[in-house]
Amino acid sequence: MLYKEILDDLRQRSRLAVAKYEMIWDLSQLVENTNPILIRKKLENMVSEAEKVRSEWHGKIAGLEAQGILHLLELKEAFNLKFEGAVRYGQLMYAANSTDETAKQLNDSVRRAMMKVGQALAFIDIELGRLLASKPSLVKDPVLAEYRHYLERIVRRVPHILSEIEEQLVIAKDKNGVSAWEMLQSDWLSTRTFTMEIKGEKKIMPYGQIIGFYQSPDRNLRKQARQTVFEGLGKDDIVWASAVRAVCEDHIEMCRLRKWPTPMTQSLIDNDLDNEAFDSLMKTIQNNTKHYQKYLKIKAKLMDLPKLADYDLTAPLPKSPEKTYPWTDARREITSAYREFDQQIGNWINEMYERRHLDGEVRKGKTSGAWCAPWLAGKSAYILQSYNERMTDVYTQAHELGHAIHNYLASRTQKPSNCEVGSSIAETGSIFGELLLTERLLKKAKTKEEKQAILAIVLDEFGLSAFQVSARVFFEQSLYEAIKQGRFLDGEAISKLWITARDKIHGDAVEWMNVMKWQWTATPHYYLANYRFYNYPYVFAQLFVFALYRLYKEQGKNFVPKLKALLAAGSSKSPRELSAELGFDITSEEFWQKGMKQAEEFIDMLEKIL
Ligand SMILES: [Zn+2]
Repeated sequence: MLYKEILDDLRQRSRLAVAKYEMIWDLSQLVENTNPILIRKKLENMVSEAEKVRSEWHGKIAGLEAQGILHLLELKEAFNLKFEGAVRYGQLMYAANSTDETAKQLNDSVRRAMMKVGQALAFIDIELGRLLASKPSLVKDPVLAEYRHYLERIVRRVPHILSEIEEQLVIAKDKNGVSAWEMLQSDWLSTRTFTMEIKGEKKIMPYGQIIGFYQSPDRNLRKQARQTVFEGLGKDDIVWASAVRAVCEDHIEMCRLRKWPTPMTQSLIDNDLDNEAFDSLMKTIQNNTKHYQKYLKIKAKLMDLPKLADYDLTAPLPKSPEKTYPWTDARREITSAYREFDQQIGNWINEMYERRHLDGEVRKGKTSGAWCAPWLAGKSAYILQSYNERMTDVYTQAHELGHAIHNYLASRTQKPSNCEVGSSIAETGSIFGELLLTERLLKKAKTKEEKQAILAIVLDEFGLSAFQVSARVFFEQSLYEAIKQGRFLDGEAISKLWITARDKIHGDAVEWMNVMKWQWTATPHYYLANYRFYNYPYVFAQLFVFALYRLYKEQGKNFVPKLKALLAAGSSKSPRELSAELGFDITSEEFWQKGMKQAEEFIDMLEKIL
């Protein structure tokens, strides 16, 4: 090799080594010492300190004045910050590699310690709730100004809490009641096997593996996988239907006992929302299905199909360029996209990479999916992802980094208690970040095909989160409606409800295989015990952020501090208040329509480059 080639080769190798090093996170920052013995010791201290708090405060909260409540809340926060690092260290180490012995043991110690702390400190919210309900003026006391909304949320739950004995009884009965149904569904699903022919060879696969083919670029494999799965699941409709019925009827019973006026109430309280906002959001979706259907028809053209089939809905475009994005490219594009929006945010994104707070390496034993774990004490966050160099991976990374920015801003502005952001607002930084990335990638795209691929990623996600998720909301509503009317829901009856909800969204834009009537059997959240209507916050988030992005396009740089203020507010204000500060009314359809307008604009852009 010539001298220059040797040098280039060395440079290339060192670049690869740096990228590899950068792709593995550094968890040591979370703890003073990484010695597992010392971490376990710290966890033991956490439990004994929690028990000390209990012995000092249990039964005494009822007599507190504002100053006393402030003291208690600050004590609780200081406790959480003190031990957060050790807890995260064990959890994240295990998530990154569940086959590692030390990680397994530490994670187990964390779980046990957390359970004990939870049991020891559960009295705080219960006693505090009772006190605030009997003395509502405390919520508005100036001494507690920073905790106002935090306390309001506790008060909102109070009327629905049962007596201590009843609560214990519910927990005891749930374990073998509604939670057992949830577990049965999940265990049954994960132990089914499916036989599918791939390249002339018969393969037997568990559920977790066969669903990998849903996104295959090979249309036939996508079709076969779904056909095989739902044909198989349909045969067990008695199991699925019994589980859905039990979970829904249990919820109706709990609504009666806990005095929740509708099956939605529990979820609205959890998500810090109200009926009015929910109704106008869902109405907007219902009135705009034509736009989604228009996109599906455009996508069919891009795929050279007369009509999309169910297995094409989120499939990659066949003509997408085979471009890959090495880690360093992703870092450059994402950091620049955020920096073009705001210098400070761009610097924080850069810091996330510099301090190695991302774990992107693909390895055995790593949990699937991608997420961002806050680290409040460090005013930062950690991100886990399996980075495979595809454009969708770049999007996922930009998304998770948006969550990190939310944590950076909130933890620098708010008390830790105000950093527990509900799902409808929690997706603001992340989806906004994806749109910033879109803007940058579209500007840089050289070919029509590249632009199509970018827009299809954005619109597929929009369609999934705003529209397909709405079908699930309509379906869940119809289940309760049917039970209320005294109808018996067997597998076929539930399937009919699912088809009605599904078709309300997709109209005639999609050709469904007959077996897709069993789609509901595999969706875990219909079976989640004590966690109903889990889905609409995603619809909320999607339209909310599209509306914000539109505002950004209208107001330019003036909008930047407004978005930062919204993120910095954490959970110190309700979504309704946060939107009002931006001049939005989330109870009006007009607001949601603004988000829809942005989606329409993306659809029009795509139509123009067909
Ligand atoms: Zn997210």
